[in-house]
Amino acid sequence: MTIFKLPVFDELEGYERDPFRSFYNCGIYQEPYDYPLVDFPGLLDIEVNNHCNFDCLFCYRNKMIRKENFMDTALFRKIIDESRSNNLTGIRICGWGEPFMHRNIYDMIQYASSNTLLVHITTNGSFLINDDNRKRLLDSGCNKVKFSFQGADENGYGVMRNNSLYQNIVKAVLSLINERDRAGSNLFVQVGTSFTDETMDERASFFDFWVDKADHVYGDNTHLEHVKDMERIKNLTMKSEPVYRQNKFSRCGRPQSMMFISSSGQASFCCSDYNMENIIGDVNQTDLKSIWHGQDINIIREMLKEGKKKLIPICANCYTQR
Ligand code: SF4
Repeated sequence: MTIFKLPVFDELEGYERDPFRSFYNCGIYQEPYDYPLVDFPGLLDIEVNNHCNFDCLFCYRNKMIRKENFMDTALFRKIIDESRSNNLTGIRICGWGEPFMHRNIYDMIQYASSNTLLVHITTNGSFLINDDNRKRLLDSGCNKVKFSFQGADENGYGVMRNNSLYQNIVKAVLSLINERDRAGSNLFVQVGTSFTDETMDERASFFDFWVDKADHVYGDNTHLEHVKDMERIKNLTMKSEPVYRQNKFSRCGRPQSMMFISSSGQASFCCSDYNMENIIGDVNQTDLKSIWHGQDINIIREMLKEGKKKLIPICANCYTQR
């Protein structure tokens, strides 16, 4: 199966060992409009909270005006129960907050994984500096954790993330990998970062450090549209003018294979919807399958299939093709 797009760099061997890889390689993800609409999404992106303990300069949260909320555990279980009975492949716990701030996060992971769903969680890593939290993660049955860095080094990280936790988080990742190996766990540890306009050498040093430590390492470009203090970034981390992401693709098949559920239970056709301006249903009131087959998301699918991204505000400046 052809892989449309590779990030700036990618350790391909690890990429293939990703527990979600069989989904990412499948036809409905790779060539979504070559297949009829599946009866239920293949993956659900679930935001368990939209609070964050960081204040990153580049983050969309800078423009988030919706109320901060922790997902009710009963609602999370309802989503998992319906997903399981419809053969969902897995969930990605992500969205617009740091998920380890949710006081029930380990129970939620355990509930999903014990119901045979693959579980991915994306984190800024700060809560996993704590030894007990790493143990709880390993005990939860989580299949994949993605540590999200920023920048190529401690300096770039400090500016973009607006904190000085870089070394602590590096240490936490390395500790987790050691503890995982000692425990015989299969937790897949991915480390990713994004760059502004730094040199290839700096990108390579990040990759060289992680390539034989993490299961997978990748890099991508930083979204700059929401940076609060561009001058500060420019002076400290950029060698030249910022390069904004190119909106190269006119079609996107993401709503053919995935759906996003916000911390309040509202559904959107994409996890990029940080302000939930494209609500296609509410899981508090409706089952997931009805939302998936609803008129609102079908209109979006038709538009995206016909290459009309520019007519959908949230998609208009999106750089991705899915
Ligand atoms: S174009 Fe971008 S914002 Fe729109 S559905 Fe695809 S990934 Fe999401």
